Formats: sequence, C-alpha cells, structure tokens
Amino acid sequence: MSSTPDYSLLLSIANEFGTPVYVYDADTIVNQYKRLTKAFEPLHVKVKYACKALNNSNILKLLKHEGSGLDAVSINEVHLGLKAGFTPAEILFTPNCVGFDEIKSAVELGVQINIDNISILEQFGNEYGDTIPCCIRLNPHILAGGNKKISTGHIDSKFGISIYQLRHVLRVIKTYNMNINGLHMHTGSDILDAGVFLQGAEILFDAAKDFPDLQFIDFGSGFKVAYKENDITTDIEELGKAITDRFLEFTKEYGRELELWFEPGKFLVSESGYFLVKTNVIKQTTATVFVGVDSGLNHLIRPMLYDSYHEIINISNPEGKQRIYTVVGYICETDTFGWDRKLSEVHEGDILAFKNAGAYGITMSSNYNARVRPAEVLIYKGKAHLIRKRETLDDMLKNEVAINF
Ligand SMILES: *Cc1c(COP(=O)(O)O)cnc(C)c1O
Repeated sequence: MSSTPDYSLLLSIANEFGTPVYVYDADTIVNQYKRLTKAFEPLHVKVKYACKALNNSNILKLLKHEGSGLDAVSINEVHLGLKAGFTPAEILFTPNCVGFDEIKSAVELGVQINIDNISILEQFGNEYGDTIPCCIRLNPHILAGGNKKISTGHIDSKFGISIYQLRHVLRVIKTYNMNINGLHMHTGSDILDAGVFLQGAEILFDAAKDFPDLQFIDFGSGFKVAYKENDITTDIEELGKAITDRFLEFTKEYGRELELWFEPGKFLVSESGYFLVKTNVIKQTTATVFVGVDSGLNHLIRPMLYDSYHEIINISNPEGKQRIYTVVGYICETDTFGWDRKLSEVHEGDILAFKNAGAYGITMSSNYNARVRPAEVLIYKGKAHLIRKRETLDDMLKNEVAINF
C-alpha cells in the first residue's frame, strides 16, 4: 500500500545531509491518510492527526493540505498547529494532568477542549458554565494496546474519566449547566482487533444517551502498523466497515447526525520514516558481532523504552550475503537497536536504515551524552528537502546561564 523510496535515494540523502538523519516520505503519509478516510466512507470521518508522533511543521502542513485536523496534547503543540495554519476549530486539545491555567490558555486560543478528569471538569464548569463547549474523555476500561506502557484503557490507567464515574460526571454537568459537545476514548496503541474498538464504541454509544448536545464522537487511535514482514496489523478496511455500519445505526437511535473523529499518530507517519545511521565500528566479542552506529537511544529511544522492533537494512550493500549482527548505539549506557539481526554484510562506513521511524522518533529524541539531535529530510515529489537542520553545540548551550566563580 505504501510506496517505498528506493535505497539509492536514501543513500544520496545520507551523503548530502550527513548522518544520523530522519527521512520521511510524503507520499506514504498522504496514502495512509487517504486509506484511513476511505475506509469509513460514506461517513466523512474527521482525522485529528496526533502530532506528538512527529511534529515538524512541514508534516503538519502536509496533513492540513490533505484535510486533516490536529490532536494536541500540550499548549505548545496547539501553538505549533496554529503556526502551521490550522484554524482553532480544527484543533482538539487532549492533555492529561495539566493545570487549569493551561486549559484556560487553550480556551483563549479557541481550540476544542477535551477534559480527562473530574477536577478539571468542575473548574471548567465553574469558569465557563455553558459558554464554552467541551468534550469528555471517558475510559471504557478495555484492555488494549501492544504493551502495558502504551495501553491507556485499563483499570490502573491515569487516562480519562472512568465510565463507572458517569453519574458523578452528569451531576457536575447539570450543576454547571455545561455544554458537552463530544465524547472521546483512546484506549492505547497497537490495537489489533476491530472487536476491541467496537466494544469501546458500544460503551460510548451507551453513555451518549445522557448527552443531548453532542456534535461528535472521537474513537481516538491505536491502529497498529506492520513492523516486520508479514506482521499482523489493524485491518483498517474491515474496521472501517464495521464501525461505519454500527455508527450509522447509532446516530439513528440518537436522533440526528454526529461526526465521527479519529486521532491517529503512528498510522499516518510511522511507515513514512527511515532513520539513517552510519556504521562506526564492527566489534567482534566472544558472544556476538556488534555493529556500532553513529546514533543511540538519544535519537531513537523506542527499542529501549517499548521493546519496539525496527527492521534494519544495510542500504550500502543491500545485495550482500546475510550475516548475523547486534546493532547498538554509541551512548554510554546499553542502547541496543536490534539483537541478532540478519543484515547484508556490514562494513565500517556502511549506512543502515531503520524502518518505521516516522512516529515517536525525533519527537522523543534528546541531547543525552551531549549529542546534537539529527536533521530531518522530507521526500516530496521525488525530491529531498531539508526540513530541520542538525542541531549544533551552540544550540545546546544557548539557554545556559553563566555565573561568575
Ligand atoms: C498518543 C495519542 C494518540 C495517537 O496514538 P497512536 O498510537 O500514535 O496512533 C491519539 N490520541 C491521544 C489522546 C494520544 O495521547
């Protein structure tokens, strides 16, 4: 489904812009966007791109151009969205555990607010009454997600207002005469099963009966993408059909049309991304052969944080004979990108490409070990465009304040 840029183009990008470098393919992002919206036809789903996955302004503008809205989880993500040209109405603000001041700033900017705890709901009602509509994030307590760290719907999760607290929610709303225009759930990342979504959907549909002013229902995200060849992924077409049918039935029961929203991050951008690194050393130990590259968990933390799998390809020698390597970073702490990987024979100086590096790559990167963050390049209409310069030592120092000793 997604187009793949050829390895020679990736190699030329590594040569031109240096390594390590994040590369994104615009066509892949656009294709994924189209695939998602098409899966829910005849409904016009509204997509709110979860920009924490990849927030370079050029990517935001690309998705805006396709018709997407934005899901922001911090006030600065709201600002990034506004600067990229999204209207306030196109932006959904879905923070977790932020102070009421940040919510007020977002209200002043005019974006749609999504509230995820009763304390803030009360403060919101107290401050705005029925003058500003808001959405409520409910936690349906469905166990979903590829990994406990990325599941958000379970009983111990800090996200959303428990569906069992619905009576309390309704009490607050009634007391302050609040206008609730949306219901929301986001049960986690890497959900495989259409059934899980539908289970959550039923819970939201049931709750919706108590909210007469709804304009939309937001099913969040969690669509799984393929990490390995033949990996099972969310069947978006099957999911689309099942949810669309049930949603249309539900809106009939509800009595009028409602909008259906999703807020995917990974699904839209993960497969578009390639992280290119250079092999610094081949190090043979008694137990394995390490490939040490010019990057580490400072630039791509997902393998160490979530045990995520990124396929690795030696694009300098794609046809070489296969050998087994453990690919590691240069950080002074264990930072393994992949154990026992079959790679085409690697030589020092070879460029390796990590696939599925579009989501939660650069946005989770840091300056650990005083390493600068990588450059970013977008392949757009067949041409490579630099969209973020590599950081410099001066960038790292610019906010330090010297005292006189
Ligand atoms: C992170 C997040 C998403 C996106 O999740 P993906 O797995 O990247 O699609 C959507 N909604 C909210 C509220 C989130 O926090």
